Amino acid sequence: MQTSLYPWQEAQWQQLLQRMQADTLAHAILLTGVRGIGKLHFAQALVASNFCLQLDPAGFACKQCKNCYLFAADTYPDFIFLQPSEESNTIAVDEIRGLIGKLALTRHFDRKKIALIQHADRMNANAANALLKTLEEPPAETILILLTDKPQALPATIRSRCQQTSLNLPDETEALAWLQSQNGTTRWESLLKLAQGAPLAALDLLQSDLVEQRHLVVASSLKLFEGQATVALLSSELESIPVPQILAWLQCVVADLMRIKAMDNPPSLENPDFYRHLLALAPRMTVSSLQQLWEFLLQRSRIFDASLNRRLFIEDVLIQCRTCNKSAR
Ligand SMILES: [Zn+2]
Repeated sequence: MQTSLYPWQEAQWQQLLQRMQADTLAHAILLTGVRGIGKLHFAQALVASNFCLQLDPAGFACKQCKNCYLFAADTYPDFIFLQPSEESNTIAVDEIRGLIGKLALTRHFDRKKIALIQHADRMNANAANALLKTLEEPPAETILILLTDKPQALPATIRSRCQQTSLNLPDETEALAWLQSQNGTTRWESLLKLAQGAPLAALDLLQSDLVEQRHLVVASSLKLFEGQATVALLSSELESIPVPQILAWLQCVVADLMRIKAMDNPPSLENPDFYRHLLALAPRMTVSSLQQLWEFLLQRSRIFDASLNRRLFIEDVLIQCRTCNKSAR
């Protein structure tokens, strides 16, 4: 069990903690925010504080009392956790019925009983309907916490019955400082961009294939721009990477080249790890050819769908990239 928070969660923590301590917390809370900012971590800290018998001055669970031990051991009897099953990736109506049944039982301790549903947007229609009844008539002394990064995917009837709290993204400086404190040897700028600003998602990326894939796409496209690789070779090298992802990364490369052409020291690049490479390449391209390529990639990403011949589609894109350099003066 953890009880500390990520630095970007402080404001919302204070808000919910005050409500909890004043006993004005709604019976149903919808906690939203993009993937990778620590919604579950935040919710668990809140749940732990609700159960703890001797909170510390900042309102966090003490980790030492009887209730904290039970919660840490996953044996706290008045806590129910539900998430989508691994096989179906959905939350089925039977699971929601099970949760409702447990919520209705008498509490073991004098703290509020809490049910936490992760990825609540993955409830199927029947499950959402079953939960709706409980939201309309919640059992006494219970709190339901729903987590989602896609609140719009939840029925409006569910959303309207919850008190909504949105966890915000930290600003870039704060996110980079935190990532640097986790791993000081990594260049986080491009990973954070790739994770769309979510620090925990950036941390995940470090361990994932996506990092390697982006590196491959960017390095390959630079080789192509320089005329050092053939379209056929690159097309087979990129075979395992989803086409929309390739197009998005190619656009990032083109955007960087345009930025470098527009000013001497662009303050922010999509691919700062390739800066020297991009800098050497930029003089060999014209602004108009880059603009044309940008529009071409944009148009391709709009028309792509999985029924198209992947190899032909990618080769067409790569040929266009190669042409971009040929038109340089
Ligand atoms: Zn405690």
